[in-house]
Amino acid sequence: MQRTIVLAGFMLLVMGCSQNAITGKNQLTLYNEADIQNMASQQYRQFLSENRVVSTGSNKDAEMVRRVGTRLTNAINSYYATKGLSKELEGYKWEYNLVDSKEVNAWCMPGGKIVVYTGLLPITQNEAALAVVMGHEIAHALAKHGNERMSRGALQQLGGVALSVAVANKTPAAQSLLMNAYGIGSNVGVMLPFSRSQELEADKFGLIFSAMAGYNPQEAIPLWERMEKAGNGQKPPEILSTHPAEAKRIEKLRELMPEALQYYKPVGR
Ligand SMILES: [Zn+2]
Repeated sequence: MQRTIVLAGFMLLVMGCSQNAITGKNQLTLYNEADIQNMASQQYRQFLSENRVVSTGSNKDAEMVRRVGTRLTNAINSYYATKGLSKELEGYKWEYNLVDSKEVNAWCMPGGKIVVYTGLLPITQNEAALAVVMGHEIAHALAKHGNERMSRGALQQLGGVALSVAVANKTPAAQSLLMNAYGIGSNVGVMLPFSRSQELEADKFGLIFSAMAGYNPQEAIPLWERMEKAGNGQKPPEILSTHPAEAKRIEKLRELMPEALQYYKPVGR
């Protein structure tokens, strides 16, 4: 019996290692992506019903969030198409919502469910910088970083049978890991921060997607400078708890810039 359990756990880990389509890296993804997308979609609906969504009809900021999201996802669709990866986006049903909250935060759940908090806008200050943040969040989702974090979280907390139960679809354990992975809600106890390598990947693809969408990726540098400055205050931005910045982030962004600029075609508005 014991051996069967160990073997089952081992098989789960072997099956859980896969190569990511855009980063090309091997990663541990114990969760079925379609299951996570379903779960995320339900959690998204619930989140929207419990928070104040700013309607796009009369609000310029809400319209901007939708416009940036649409331009980014159009760019992503063509990026994936040129690489023969369109199938990867099949489960994505993009949604972009601005939520009225002082939190300095934004996230994109698997399947393309995006929220920007109004509290982020005083730090982004302009549309291109907002595109950089949203591109970064979308890159985390496309690179399946949430799945990776949930898988690591499940491994750390559990073992054997408990692990296989936790990775089963829609268990409370899986749902709370998903919420923790995205730092959703103000009462989230345990945060699962992205790792440095995940942050670097998200920065890289976030810059490329922004540039392809016609936004100047160079806005990323003053943006993260403003974010760091806000992080030195009494109440650091919530986004920094799930997106730990390293001291060299600006330096790394400068290194990534020449590649991102190759994709930049300014769009007149
Ligand atoms: Zn990040």
